[in-house]
Amino acid sequence: TNELFKAADIALYRAKADGGGRVRLFEDTMLEQIRARQSMRRDLGVALERRELHLVYQPLVDLRSGRTGCVEALLRWAHPERGSVSPAEFIPLAEETGLIDPIGDWVLETACRQAVEWPDHVSVAVNVSAVQFRRDSLPLRVAAALARSGLDPARLELEITESVLLHDNEHNMRVLHALKRLGVRIALDDFGTGYSSLSYLRLFPFDKLKLDRSFVNDIGHSAQSEAIIRAAGEMGTALSMVTTAEGVETAEQLAWLRTHGWSQAQGYFVGRPSHSPFNLASAFGTKVGRSSF
Ligand code: C2E
Ligand code: MG
Ligand code: MG
Ligand code: MG
Repeated sequence: TNELFKAADIALYRAKADGGGRVRLFEDTMLEQIRARQSMRRDLGVALERRELHLVYQPLVDLRSGRTGCVEALLRWAHPERGSVSPAEFIPLAEETGLIDPIGDWVLETACRQAVEWPDHVSVAVNVSAVQFRRDSLPLRVAAALARSGLDPARLELEITESVLLHDNEHNMRVLHALKRLGVRIALDDFGTGYSSLSYLRLFPFDKLKLDRSFVNDIGHSAQSEAIIRAAGEMGTALSMVTTAEGVETAEQLAWLRTHGWSQAQGYFVGRPSHSPFNLASAFGTKVGRSSF
């Protein structure tokens, strides 16, 4: 990165010397971006100890009973100057710097400790990124979080995206089976956006299929997408997986998914990510609230 800085500085100097306004503007933006990433990376290093990271929780609601069967933990970073930074932005930084290990451990343990406070039938879902999954130590880290929190392993679900599974089949299978032996469940996240979904369904018994929200978005607008969602749902059910649709934003989408046999829905219409998912008023009314337990 230092070299990149130097190169950018030289380019900037040259652009200034040339008096080229357009070039300079481009170099300025580039330099600004590099500096912003650099400072974010530095800030992320102390974010954990400064307690700037926290989790919010979004309900996954059972489409037959209307009850919350699972809650997904989503990481948030309240940056002192930048405000709320999206995990899509800082997880890659955490992966580059190795900070993903302490952050990932913190997420696992915090989510498990939180779930212990919830009703027994509610499980918690935790996202696992590519770099976390590449570690041989992942099953050990998960076991540690379970032991420290006292959470029943059956109430922990790990979400893995297809892209995580792209390389090194042998390692993937070893880690997936080690996790299964711990008694936790495995969900295939963002289903339909990667390249290897079908081969992975053949190789490993996932417990849950989470259809990417880009498909759900199309409900009511694209017969093509609806045919794919129907087929994916039937396939998931035939393979004994819980089928979850993400990004459900309208009553129409919810009704469609219920009609076509999907088991769970997650999305803003059902409940937004929040600190206390069981106090939310939601589209499902009181059944999502604590009163139904
Ligand atoms: P994801 O696992 O697919 O999580 C779902 C994302 O969709 C979340 O974004 C959630 O806030 C958003 N979402 C939920 N319902 C709706 C909806 O109805 N409409 C729309 N437009 N969006 C909806 P978020 O929280 O920004 O997280 C983005 C991604 O960052 C996650 O995608 C996940 O891959 C990753 N991530 C989040 N938390 C963690 C974490 O603790 N560890 C790791 N490794 N990755 C995380
Ligand atoms: Mg997820
Ligand atoms: Mg997802
Ligand atoms: Mg997604």
